[in-house]
Amino acid sequence: MTRLVIIGPPGAGKGTQARGIADRFGIPAISTGDIFRENVANKTDLGLEAKRYMDAGQYVPDDLTNALVRSRLGEPDASRGFLLDGYPRTTDQVRELDEILADNGVSLDAVIELEADQEVVIQRLLGRAAEQGRSDDTEDVIRTRLQVYAKQTAGLIDAYGERGLIVAVNGIGSVAEVGENILAGLAARGLTGEV
Ligand code: ADP
Repeated sequence: MTRLVIIGPPGAGKGTQARGIADRFGIPAISTGDIFRENVANKTDLGLEAKRYMDAGQYVPDDLTNALVRSRLGEPDASRGFLLDGYPRTTDQVRELDEILADNGVSLDAVIELEADQEVVIQRLLGRAAEQGRSDDTEDVIRTRLQVYAKQTAGLIDAYGERGLIVAVNGIGSVAEVGENILAGLAARGLTGEV
């Protein structure tokens, strides 16, 4: 049972790596961004509310996001462990996650920090905009998302660092290379996904 978080700026490649690592460990990759986008596509109440923030590059309010994650982590598949992608992103979300885990008598094993510099992520996000047409991948909104990340999320890396949980990995390289580096970083902490 492995409980992981992956954190890094928009465009660092979190989603792609999260799926690969989660597969390897046999745990669900839980992406709050994907869950919000699914709700937007299905026009649920949550989706309609979330869309306003997402399209502006702002974070969805903590109370909505926290309730969503609490409920998702309560599903049976998450009892075997999980990899959270895109959560927590604020200090309030860190507190909520601590509470959810404490309520279940468990704790995080590691926080993967995917590093990538601004220029690279901006180019990647603009490329993705052309390919996938995500409504929050326009240049203005990308700039806002990077600012929001710097202001609200980057500091969480220090907080988790103080707990000795950070596995820092360079996000520049091929998908396979970065994936291998993450697996090596986790293995160095005794996390191999094998039982
Ligand atoms: P990226 O990391 O590339 O910005 P995500 O798919 O992780 O993409 O997130 C897309 C959007 O979904 C965010 O800009 C935000 O509006 C919303 N979102 C995702 N996760 C959270 C979260 N933990 N708290 C608040 N909003 C979130």
